[in-house]
Amino acid sequence: MAPEPIRHILRRFELEPPVFFAEEARRCLGTDLSLWKESGVLKEASPATSAACRECGSGNVRRLEYFTDPARGRREPYIPCPDCGLVRIELERLRRWQIDTWGLLSFISDHGNVRGPATEVVRGRLWRLGTANWAGRPREVYFARRYGSETCRAVVAQMRRRPKSLLLMPTTDGARRWAGVTTNPVIALDSSLTAELGSVGLDLSYIEACLADAGLTDPRRGRKPVRKRGERAAKIELLESEMGKHLRAAQHHAQSTQELGGTPKLLPRPRQKELAKRTGLTKSDFSRCLNDASAKWLRVLWEAATDLDQVMSYGAKPIPKAAT
Ligand SMILES: [Zn+2]
Repeated sequence: MAPEPIRHILRRFELEPPVFFAEEARRCLGTDLSLWKESGVLKEASPATSAACRECGSGNVRRLEYFTDPARGRREPYIPCPDCGLVRIELERLRRWQIDTWGLLSFISDHGNVRGPATEVVRGRLWRLGTANWAGRPREVYFARRYGSETCRAVVAQMRRRPKSLLLMPTTDGARRWAGVTTNPVIALDSSLTAELGSVGLDLSYIEACLADAGLTDPRRGRKPVRKRGERAAKIELLESEMGKHLRAAQHHAQSTQELGGTPKLLPRPRQKELAKRTGLTKSDFSRCLNDASAKWLRVLWEAATDLDQVMSYGAKPIPKAAT
C-alpha cells in the first residue's frame, strides 16, 4: 500500500458523507482500492443516483432514470441532458465507496498500538480509541473529525473534561483549526504516516516527538530502546510455520474434493487478521512482517495459498519464487 491513498482517505473523512465516486476512487486510490476494501476501511456504498453528461461536456448533472433497452433486454440508467437528449450512463461510473468509520478507527488503533475497544463519544464526530503507551507512558487517545459545525461545541466540552487526553485528527488542516479551540495535545494523522517497505503505518516516533514538543514527555524515563531485529525474525518464522500448516490443510482439502467430485477446490487463504490471531500477533505485526525485506519465503507461501496448482504440488517440488 502506498501512503498517498490513505492521505486521500483521511482528507475525505473530514467531509460529509465520506464517500468516493468511481472516478475519484480510481484517481485517488488507484490499484490500492481493493486493498483498502479488504482491510475494512472502505466499503461499497449504494450507487450514485445522478450523473453529469459527458457527451456534450456541459457538466449538466441530472437525476438518473431507468429504462429497459429492448436490444440489451435489461434496465439501464440514463440522464435527460437538455443538450443531448437521453444519454446512457455506464453502471461502472455510478459505483461509490464509503469510508467505514469503525474500519478506519480499527486501522488507526492497530497501527498505533492503541488498546480499545473504541467507543463513540459524540455521534459521528468524536471517539475514544483507547489507551496507548506512547513516549513511555499510558495515554488516553481520542479521535475527532469535521471541525466547524454545530456539534463542535459538544466535542470541545467533552475534551475539556479530559485535558490530558490526546486528540488525533485526520488532517493537518483540521488539527490547526481544533488546536485553537481545545487545550488538548492535537496530532494530525496525515503527518504521522510512514510507508515502511510498502506497508502504510503510523510513525510512532513522530507522535512521540509531537508529545515531547508539547512538553508531555518525562525526560527522566529516557527513550524506549529500539526494538531488536531478532524479534521481527521470530515473528516471520512463526507466520511461515502457520502458512505451512495452512498449505498442508489446503492440499488435503484439494485432494479430497478431487476424489469426491472430480474437481479440486481451493481452501480460502486465511485473512490477515485471522492469521495474526492464530499466531498471537497483531494485524500490523503481520503486515510489517510480510513487507520485511527478509520475508521472501513468507511472501512466497502467502501467494502460493491463492494458487490451486501450487497448493496441490506443495512439498512435492519447490514453489517458484514468484514473489519478490
Ligand atoms: Zn449533454
